[in-house]
Amino acid sequence: IQRTLAMIKPDGIDKWPQIEKMILDEGFTIVDRRRLRLTRQEAEEFYAEHQEKSFFPDLVTYMTSGEVMAFILAREDAVSQWRRLLGPTKVSTARRQDPASIRAVFGDPSFDTRNVAHGSDSLVSAAREVKFFFPDLTLE
Ligand code: ATP
Repeated sequence: IQRTLAMIKPDGIDKWPQIEKMILDEGFTIVDRRRLRLTRQEAEEFYAEHQEKSFFPDLVTYMTSGEVMAFILAREDAVSQWRRLLGPTKVSTARRQDPASIRAVFGDPSFDTRNVAHGSDSLVSAAREVKFFFPDLTLE
C-alpha cells in the first residue's frame, strides 16, 4: 500500500468535510491529518521548486492567507490516484476535462493559484512532503 501527501489549500478549507468524503469514497485511508497555518518561510520551503516562477510571490501570499489541512493518504497507487481525483492543475481545464474532479467541483476558474488542493507528484516528493508536515512520523 502506497502513501501520499494531500493538502487542502486555503480556498478549499471550508469544504474539507465534502473533500474528505470524496477521499474516503475513493478508497483512501486517512493515516494522519493536521490543520495549520503555514508561515511565509514554510510556504517558500514547500514550493521551493517554483521560486524562479513569476507566480511564486502570489503563490506564497495565497498559501499563507489562511489555514490548510494536510493529510497522509494510503491506498494502492496513492500518488497517482490522488492526483487523478484532484484533476488538472488549472481549475478551468479541470472543469472541461474532468468535471467530477475535486478542482473542478470546488475550484474557482478565475484564479490559477487557487486550485483547492495539492498532491505529491511522485513517491520521492511524497516522502519529502510527509516529513515536512509530519516531522515526528516515521514511515517504514
Ligand atoms: P500542486 O503542486 O499544488 O499539487 P501541481 O503540481 O498540479 O500543483 P505545479 O505546476 O506544481 O502544479 O504548481 C504548483 C502550484 O502553483 C499550483 O497548484 C497552483 O496553485 C500554482 N500555479 C501553478 N501555475 C500557476 C500559474 N501559471 N499562475 C498562478 N499560479 C500557478
